[in-house]
Amino acid sequence: EAARADPAHWPRAASPEGFTDAATEAFISDLLGRMTLEEKVGQLIQADIASIRPEDLLTWPIGSILAGGNSSPGGDERAPAQAWVDLARAFREANAARSGTPIPLIYGIDAVHGHNNVVGATIFPHNIGLGAARDPDLIRRIGEATSLEVAVTGADWTFGPTLAVPRDDRWGRTYEGFGEDPEIARSYAAPLTLGLQGPIEAGRPLQPGRIAGSAKHFLADGGTADGRDQGDFIGTEQELIGIHLSGYPQAIDAGVLSVMASFSSWNGVKHSGNHSILTDVLRGPLGFQGFVVSDWNAHGQLPGCSNESCPDAVNAGIDMLMAPDSWKPLYENTLAQVRAGEIPMSRVEEAVRRILRAKVKAGLFEPDRPLEGQLEHLGAPEHRALAREAVRKSLVLLKNENGVLPVRGNARVLVAGTAADDIGQASGGWTLTWQGTGNANAHFPNADSIWTGISEAVSEAGGQAVLSPDGDWQTRPDVAVVVFGETPYAEFQGDIDTLDFLPEEPLAVLRRLQAQGIPTVSVFLSGRPMWVNPEINASDAFVAAWLPGTEGAGIADVLIGDSEGRPRHDFSGTLGFSWPGDATGRPLNRGEPGYDPQFAYGYGLSYARPAAVDQLSEESGVAASASSVDMYLVDGRVTPPWSLALEDSGGQTRVGNERLVASPRGGVRMTVVDDLAQESGRRFVFSAEGGGEALIWGGPVDLARQANGEMALSFRYRVDQHPQDRLTLGLDQAT
Ligand code: BGC
Repeated sequence: EAARADPAHWPRAASPEGFTDAATEAFISDLLGRMTLEEKVGQLIQADIASIRPEDLLTWPIGSILAGGNSSPGGDERAPAQAWVDLARAFREANAARSGTPIPLIYGIDAVHGHNNVVGATIFPHNIGLGAARDPDLIRRIGEATSLEVAVTGADWTFGPTLAVPRDDRWGRTYEGFGEDPEIARSYAAPLTLGLQGPIEAGRPLQPGRIAGSAKHFLADGGTADGRDQGDFIGTEQELIGIHLSGYPQAIDAGVLSVMASFSSWNGVKHSGNHSILTDVLRGPLGFQGFVVSDWNAHGQLPGCSNESCPDAVNAGIDMLMAPDSWKPLYENTLAQVRAGEIPMSRVEEAVRRILRAKVKAGLFEPDRPLEGQLEHLGAPEHRALAREAVRKSLVLLKNENGVLPVRGNARVLVAGTAADDIGQASGGWTLTWQGTGNANAHFPNADSIWTGISEAVSEAGGQAVLSPDGDWQTRPDVAVVVFGETPYAEFQGDIDTLDFLPEEPLAVLRRLQAQGIPTVSVFLSGRPMWVNPEINASDAFVAAWLPGTEGAGIADVLIGDSEGRPRHDFSGTLGFSWPGDATGRPLNRGEPGYDPQFAYGYGLSYARPAAVDQLSEESGVAASASSVDMYLVDGRVTPPWSLALEDSGGQTRVGNERLVASPRGGVRMTVVDDLAQESGRRFVFSAEGGGEALIWGGPVDLARQANGEMALSFRYRVDQHPQDRLTLGLDQAT
């Protein structure tokens, strides 16, 4: 399969009226005429705030900064909102104080479910929940609220909308997509873009409080083989157009100011180096006039490139290189490549013109920022009310038997499950930190946990609610609500081999309650559908709540009725992802041959539309075994060559050195030896154990320095029907 797109096959988008206008183009031509080569090349470079200081801009003409998922003012992810404002101002002031042609910076951040990096912001449900709501106007209003919260903290640009169409739920970024079918992304792309940016008008900047968007990740990020993050989409051009082009034409028509190229590949060719995709198609039939930014050091993954040097990415059509920590050498090398003619000057002028055009449109040349610093908008009551509405609309009711829901408001309600009072877990990845881990409720000043929401609703209706994470309560309740699900992850850390929901505690709690004759309602938090048939069977009602964010009260609004037992709000969400009937994780998408879901795309019960759910099969049907696992050292200090041995608890060595190959993000991939992988019924599931500085696909592992100076990695694996065992992965750093 080739990876060359033919522009003749692609839909033709109408460019938005007013994206370019004569006065703006003349203004840009004048600037270009005055800028030095250094200033032009600097516009192509974006640095992360963890690796650049404001004072660097006094001498380095860098055009853009970003705050990546783990970056925050002073490296403090709990920094107060004012520190974000101060930092943005410090960068802008240093940039303006540099001698030469003054060009404003554009400052980007991943506000992908609200302004999620900043303490006190409203955290909306992740896209998977918004997709279930099937409500384009809701999406527009969320875009508006998000852009205002970002603008008041001094940033200009969000890396969204995410238009991924996740086709394999084992992908760790499934929750960032609206649905497995492109129809949802298509219907949301324009309203979300318009919500964030406002309408594009000829000769006018965006309104104050509106920020630039970035449609990402172009293209087919959700189509990679086996759901591997940053992997390869193996497919035809028709599939690219029919499935993965999803909402891009709509976002472009709505005037999205930037597009982010995907880390992933198409038939082995990385998108960030694919001229036919980034230039022939995107600039041809799709008519995109904004600029293309690359993803985090993605240029370094192109053949012949490194993080510090990649003329091919620029020549393929990347206008701005996200060079978070490598910005200095990348700037210098790019400058040298332009001087040497490796990057044509015309290409640099074209990229700079696009970036300046977006900067003009985004209002960055305007003299003032009337809303900046108005931090009362962060987590404002009207934004929280909107998020609460979104939570209500995102819930999908999979089962409701024996009249358990709605819960009578004046009932005695036991709220169980360790996730019930955990706002961080309910928010998922991309929340205060990239992974979204380690967030205590105290870090969410403008928020209600699910427990808080339920207890308030119940007490208002004259009932009584008690929180008991392990489900023990002496007094007999009328009903128990058990909240459980996936713990937070982001990007490749969330890639898994099967959709088996592993923690056993929730099922034990449900079964114990069931044995006592207490009606149970499960609220399942997850970034994707999972195989939870045993949990569904052990529940009278089962609600897929996705990753709802900071407004737990939205769940109570729908679950808890009035004192007469009448619903206050009905369920209206329907599945945007097919729910599997086994744990294999093989792709399950509506319209594909052999489609056999447990709950089909579009399924969702309500009080008005009840239906009986039979006992579900508890045979998971997983036979496949994972045969390889990727390791990625976050710190990056340990570099190949490696010496590595994997032993089981009996001291037997399972993996040797010869099984190691480089993994895409600079770690290693180890292949589990055949005898282990093929033993029938055995499979590897890597689960989190403690913190640590190293990650293994599927969860963190412990990294400890042993007495002899060797580094030891340990993680837990589970063998079907066998007790937990422990493997130790010893790792020597060769000199
Ligand atoms: C992600 C992007 C994100 C960027 C900046 C990357 O690792 O793939 O979605 O916008 O980081 O934080």
